[in-house]
Amino acid sequence: MKLILKLILIIVIIIGTYIYVFKERCIFIYKDINDKITFFKEDDSDIITAFTKGMKTHDYYKTLTDKPYTLSKTSDIYQNINYDFEKHLHYNEIEKLINNLNKSDSTIISVIGSSVDKRSIYSIEIGYGSNTILFDAGIHAAEVAGPLFIIKYLIDLVNDYENNEDEAINIINNYKIIIIPCINPDGYEATLFGTKYINNKNLYIYQNRKDIIFKTYKGNANGVDLNRNFPSQHGGLYYSNNILNETVSLEPTLGYFDYFPGTRLGSEPETKAVMSWLENNLNNASAYISLHSAGRVIYSGKPNLSAAFNNKSLRLAKIVSQVNNYTAYDKTEEEVGYGNDGTSTDYASEIISDFKFSKKTGRLSASSYQNPKIKEVINTGIITLETLSEYTFDLNIIKEEYYNQKLYKVFTKLIKNQE
Ligand SMILES: [Zn+2]
Repeated sequence: MKLILKLILIIVIIIGTYIYVFKERCIFIYKDINDKITFFKEDDSDIITAFTKGMKTHDYYKTLTDKPYTLSKTSDIYQNINYDFEKHLHYNEIEKLINNLNKSDSTIISVIGSSVDKRSIYSIEIGYGSNTILFDAGIHAAEVAGPLFIIKYLIDLVNDYENNEDEAINIINNYKIIIIPCINPDGYEATLFGTKYINNKNLYIYQNRKDIIFKTYKGNANGVDLNRNFPSQHGGLYYSNNILNETVSLEPTLGYFDYFPGTRLGSEPETKAVMSWLENNLNNASAYISLHSAGRVIYSGKPNLSAAFNNKSLRLAKIVSQVNNYTAYDKTEEEVGYGNDGTSTDYASEIISDFKFSKKTGRLSASSYQNPKIKEVINTGIITLETLSEYTFDLNIIKEEYYNQKLYKVFTKLIKNQE
């Protein structure tokens, strides 16, 4: 009997110590981000269906506290590399170009996460200024032109800087440009070169390779459209007075314009990498530009957000259209609450509008769904920049777009916020 009592005592002490230590650890890690959580009681009675679960609170915390890994600098000398769309680049060739960019003193390269099939996702920071501009590309698999455009721009900019060209020196000394060149490297690689390059043959993208239409495939290796997977306020749900948008799919995408947001928001490692990257960089940024590749349009507004935000973003869109006549759309081209929200720009726009994560919904929140209280003063503009008239892998068309639509000039003007 005494032995049993002793055993129980020991177990109680072990469990008690574990809870105490774990709790301390939680408080230690999460202390500084507790203000990102809301305890609002949302009025969400007007939501009829949340068809995708929200993010779990501890997962959200963990995502936000994930720190990038910065590549060390070596004494190697930067080499001029001239890429001019001669060939498609495997993702590991893009990684080689990134490693070469790391040889310039003007860059800091970090790994911000890894994809479902274990490819590194990079953030490239260039410049010594404090005025910060964010770009990302390649969230949609078949939109392979975005990564090529931004890589081409970077190589030209750093080549010019290393060769003492005035304009590049001016940009690099006065601005800080932070870029994710390819958010969805598995989708990029499989789309361009085939699923034989997918390492884990158990993944959805390999298992369903015969049914997937890679020409228009948007998903990651799990068949999730990452650009619907962000835990923005309206991600994965629709209002009672709306009809579910016809593009939304409740099953993994096969590439027929069927956008699957995942069974849970924030479920994908690529989404998490972008979330922590935005968390680390967005508050200092004057602009965030997300590159896509279909339609020659710029989306620049969110109907549920402030006039200050929409004006700032529309200004960015007009900077682009003044150079190359792409069509600048304002907030009237966007809809909210039809089930197709949850994009990276939805999420980023709400972060800068001071939305907080809600434990109740597992999404960002601004107190009420249809009449949110939102921050009015905004210093950041956000746009989705769609290059090319339609989806293509044709390098001649991609190259023509870069030169004829003056994308070098577009990117430079966006960085300088210059009309
Ligand atoms: Zn896209």
